[in-house]
Amino acid sequence: MTLTPPPGTMDAPLLGLDNLSRDALLMVLLQSTEAMLVSDGDNRIVAINPAFCQLTGYTPEEIIGKNPRMFSSGRVAPSVHEAFWLALQNEGRWQGEMLDRRKDGSLYPIWLGVSVLRDPTGKIKNHIARFTDLGERNEARNQLAHLAYHDPLTHLPNRLAFESQFQQSIHSCERDARQVALMLIDLDQFKKVNDTLGHHVGDELLKSVALRLRDCVRASDIVARLGGDEFVVVLPDIESALMVASIAGKVQRSLADTSHNIGTHALYATPSIGISLFPSDGRDTETLLRNADAAMYHAKNAGRNNYQFYAASMNEAAGERLFMENALRQAVSSITPDNSQFSLHFQPQISLASGEIVGLEALARWTHPELGEIPPARFIPIAEETGLIQPLGDWVFWETCRNTRAFRDAGLTGFRLAVNISAQQLRHENLPFTVHGALACYDLLPSDIELEITESTAMQNPDLTISILNHFADMGIVLAIDDFGTGYSSLAYLKHLPIHRLKLDRSFVKDLETDANDAAICSATVALGHNLGLELVAEGVETTAQRDYLAKLGCDIMQGFLYSKPLPAARIVDFLLAYPSPSALN
Ligand code: C2E
Ligand code: MG
Ligand code: MG
Repeated sequence: MTLTPPPGTMDAPLLGLDNLSRDALLMVLLQSTEAMLVSDGDNRIVAINPAFCQLTGYTPEEIIGKNPRMFSSGRVAPSVHEAFWLALQNEGRWQGEMLDRRKDGSLYPIWLGVSVLRDPTGKIKNHIARFTDLGERNEARNQLAHLAYHDPLTHLPNRLAFESQFQQSIHSCERDARQVALMLIDLDQFKKVNDTLGHHVGDELLKSVALRLRDCVRASDIVARLGGDEFVVVLPDIESALMVASIAGKVQRSLADTSHNIGTHALYATPSIGISLFPSDGRDTETLLRNADAAMYHAKNAGRNNYQFYAASMNEAAGERLFMENALRQAVSSITPDNSQFSLHFQPQISLASGEIVGLEALARWTHPELGEIPPARFIPIAEETGLIQPLGDWVFWETCRNTRAFRDAGLTGFRLAVNISAQQLRHENLPFTVHGALACYDLLPSDIELEITESTAMQNPDLTISILNHFADMGIVLAIDDFGTGYSSLAYLKHLPIHRLKLDRSFVKDLETDANDAAICSATVALGHNLGLELVAEGVETTAQRDYLAKLGCDIMQGFLYSKPLPAARIVDFLLAYPSPSALN
């Protein structure tokens, strides 16, 4: 058989194609690892080869006579299809990347080449397509890229990847005028581990350190290994240097506090951490790295196992935070039944309808032997961040119950004691035991107590929150949402919470008479609460004008300096005893 190559194709005699028999040509088609498809002038499939069936999952019976359009993924831009048909029309061939769909529905990228075969009149007789699966090639390429950008030991991004990711962080934070923190972490005395226990143990320690570092920060933060025992952590979009200090403290504790168990060795890896901030300590990778490095050496000189900021002023602020944290830790751990730096103050809540005191809110106070009174706004957030709120919150609950018993024994009744519960406490398995235990111990009823949770706490983790709150509501404990209006409540969700009261946040009450927006929020909140069958408590009522305004809106309960500041136990007893009976008020 003599083969006449179609016009515009390769020079067949030169390649020896004219020496081929039809059978030999068929063998080429059958054995080719490239998938091949031939369609007629109307683009109906007339032949395919085995490689085609293997790649697409179709049998010949399922596709002969059909249009190759059936393999289309529908994900290729119309302009590519247009270019494809134009090239076939004008040049008789096209090649490029396409995305096709297999019989099982999966998509796969292909490298496709199509040529046309025309009859002597120039009419298209056949389209001949051949293609290869690019998926495998892409996978190999991805693997290569992974190797190029990752440290093979810890699988963390390497220096190259860090530099490009850090650059991107800086760009996006610069655009939005945000800060970025760069933490350079060097393990203390790591060389000794390598020298005395061998490189294998050293490698395992680095892997363990990498895992702990990754666990300390959010998924969107960068953790990379620059080489040796040097790691970096990048925190984009930080709010304050104190927040960085608290994460550095967490990194330090996570690496150093518990041993890394490697084979039979229990190793402790303390870090020295240097921190530089974008933009105040530098605006580019090189400067920020250099300054973090200088801070890291400062940390080494300061005795290792600590962190230092590049800017001295930051170290002062961080030192103060660390001092507070340690003082709080010390104060919480030294609480005894008759000696505590903490105490409770109580603030009355008054019913507008009856004029009676219907509640007392218990508020924690901390008096440090040297620093004096530290307001809850300063120590509660630190207690929450460090987990100290757990023991402190337990103490507040027990102490509230102890005082309630004393009030009852003094004949003071008719009001509940409200206790603030933070998010961590609410979700801790211990809380129901504390509540049951303290009520039983002081012979109190669940109706003697009210729990206040802030709006943002209530909105986190809805399913869990509902089930925990249901438990307390079923016991007969009144539940209130505190600081209402400061979070982002889903009203649909609020309906499902077993709550009894909303406490309108002080910030709205403050400017009620002067700020139309605040007045509108108060009015809408009161209406919303009443529609949901809830009682409304206004916080921070300081003036009679505010009281009158809130009364007009239909608010039920008032709490604020107008009635009384939070008072220590002895003084609240005097206040309660001196409080005129409602009949005397009318
Ligand atoms: P909160 O639960 O919203 O408590 C009300 C705060 O408003 C108290 O501040 C109270 O002193 C203050 N306040 C009440 N009436 C007025 C007023 O008329 N004017 C002004 N300017 N302020 C008023 P405090 O005692 O400083 O407590 C602040 C926050 O600290 C509390 O807000 C609560 O979120 C938290 N907190 C206090 N004690 C505890 C506690 O034992 N556990 C927990 N988790 N948080 C607590
Ligand atoms: Mg409260
Ligand atoms: Mg409040």
